[in-house]
Formats: sequence, C-alpha cells, structure tokens
Amino acid sequence: MSDALHAIPNGQATPTQAGIRHDWSLAEIEALFALPFNDLLFRAQQVHRAHFDANAVQVSTLLSIKTGACPEDCKYCPQSGHYTTGLDKEKLLEIEKVVEQARAAQEAGASRFCMGAAWRSPREKDLTVVMEMVRRVKALGLETCMTLGMVDANQASRLAEAGLDYYNHNLDTSPEYYGEIITTRTYADRLATLANVREAGMKVCSGGILGMGEAPRDRAALLQQLARLEPHPESVPINMLVKVPGTPLENVEDLDPIEFVRAIAVARILMPASHVRLSAGREQMDESTQALAFLAGANSIFYGDKLLTTGNPQATRDRALFDKLGLHPERRDTCHDDDQRQAALEVALARRTSQDRHASLAYDATRV
Ligand code: SF4
Repeated sequence: MSDALHAIPNGQATPTQAGIRHDWSLAEIEALFALPFNDLLFRAQQVHRAHFDANAVQVSTLLSIKTGACPEDCKYCPQSGHYTTGLDKEKLLEIEKVVEQARAAQEAGASRFCMGAAWRSPREKDLTVVMEMVRRVKALGLETCMTLGMVDANQASRLAEAGLDYYNHNLDTSPEYYGEIITTRTYADRLATLANVREAGMKVCSGGILGMGEAPRDRAALLQQLARLEPHPESVPINMLVKVPGTPLENVEDLDPIEFVRAIAVARILMPASHVRLSAGREQMDESTQALAFLAGANSIFYGDKLLTTGNPQATRDRALFDKLGLHPERRDTCHDDDQRQAALEVALARRTSQDRHASLAYDATRV
C-alpha cells in the first residue's frame, strides 16, 4: 500500500493536494482492487472526506446536440454509423433549442450543462455554431462542457476562448484492450486531444467504460492511464456499459456491480481531488449499487431523462435517492453572485424534491 494513502488526513472537506500522485504502478493499483471490499471502501471514504464534502454530489445535465451517423466504430456506441441500431440521425440542433434545454436543466438543479455531438472531430462550420452555443449557455450562468470528438490545438483554443469550461474525451479502456473496441482512432489520438484541451486552459473530463468484456487488469490499466495525466482530469466519468441491440457488444457478459463499485473506489483513491462521475449505466443499477458507488467516492452524476441516446434514471427518482441518502447538490466554488444563484437553484431543487416525493416513492420498480 502506498505511503501516500497513509499520509492522507482523515479530515474535513477542504480541497487539498495531499496524496496527489501520478506515478501509480499497475501492481499498486491491482493491490487496491484486491483489498477486502470493506477495507477498500474505508480507504476511499478517507480520501473522499479529505478532499470533498462527502454528502455533496455535483450535478450535470447532458444533451445530444447532434445524434448518430458517427464515422467512428466504437463497438459500444449506438451512434456509430457502422452499426444498425435503429437510432434516428439528427442534424446539429439549433442554438435556440440548446439554450432552451440548458435553461430547463438549470431550473431542475443542474450546475453544468454538457453538450455532445457524434463527430470524429468538428468541422469548421460546425465549430462556429458550437462556439456560439457555449457563449449562450454560459451566459445563463451554467458551467459548460462539450464532447465533439478529437480537437486539434487550434480548435481547443477557440473553444476555450468561447468560454468552454470542460472538454470531455474519454480514454474508454486500457491501451492493451483498446484495439478490441475502436479501430478508427488510436489511444495516442485520444491522449493528444486531452493534451490540446489542457494546453488551451480548459478543464479535462475523461474516464472510461467498464463491462465491455475487458479483464480486471484492463480496468486497473485504464485508471492508471487516467491517473498519469498531469494534472488529473477534473472530472472522471466511470461508465457501466449500456448494451444496445445492434452494437457488437450487445451480448457481452455483465460486469458484477461489486467490481464496478471497486473501480469507483480505486478511481477515488488514485485521483483524490477529481470529481468521479457515476455516469452511463445508472438506469440499470439498483439504488443499493448507486449508494455503494457514492460511498466509494462517486460525487458527480448526470441528471435528467436521457444520457446522449441511452436512458438515464428519471429526475424524480434521482431526487428521491438524494433525499433517501441525505445527499445534496454540490455548490459551485465561484463568486458571490454565482453562489447566490446556486443557492436559489438548490432551493428550487429542494422544493421539487418535496413536491415529487410522493410520486417518486411510487416509482416503477421494473425500471431499476
Ligand atoms: S463514442 Fe463518440 S466517437 Fe465513438 S461512435 Fe459514438 S459518437 Fe462516435
């Protein structure tokens, strides 16, 4: 076990750089995965409490601004043009529609609005439009995030100039398993995009997908790659594969939920100050698994009915789960005006929670 872990204070929720490392060996990471479950979660909780309010969860909403017909061949993705999944292809959404959705997300309690487009990389004419989307969404007072495929240094700096706060680009899996999942872009391409994003001054959102038939060592290697990024990604989405009919991974064996929770805990330990997001796949998770994931250090979720093109737990169910677990939306660490706006959002969210409690307690059990 790393000395750095022993050195992490079991203190209060003040952000600190204590215990931040970028040199985790695969053997160290595999040793964390191999810990007794209770010991692993205890360590993850210690790390979590040293860096965050343990009961605060950052809430993001994700909108698909351009759906389907993607030229990439990611084997898990219903948006790939290589597979027949019955997904309707859509053009880039109009700016006004995006702003309308962002406003609705804000009213529902989201602090960050993420916009995703199924592109290999943005074309020039599209980049101009998405930059305007960033400006308009940001003007509402929301943090902005985009995922548009690969971006070069010039595209990254223009997005940053438009005010984009975060850029999402996942590593997906380990370098060793990557070729089994995607052949149309390389691991090095992905790392280059992340470097361009960082160089442009934006925050990095990068994680992966578990349950794609990878070996336990691949999960460790994925987390090692993420932890090697310097600085760590501010946001680390850990997705459970959503098996979509028509994709090559539709019949892959399920990953044990406990293994998934272990991965969340290890991600928390490796990247102590990052937001670890319980991301795609929550629709298929029962409340107990989600609660364990929060205990393991997940402190961010997507909130809303859709996660790009796959289902996401209904907002009312999320509010009920927050209520049951005593969780609350994380406040943005920003200026006083923004704090006031965020406080107003939390009041709105609390009001909705109360109004929806009765309905949410009677949610459709077949959906969990
Ligand atoms: S994951 Fe992204 S890049 Fe890959 S096929 Fe889907 S939309 Fe395209």
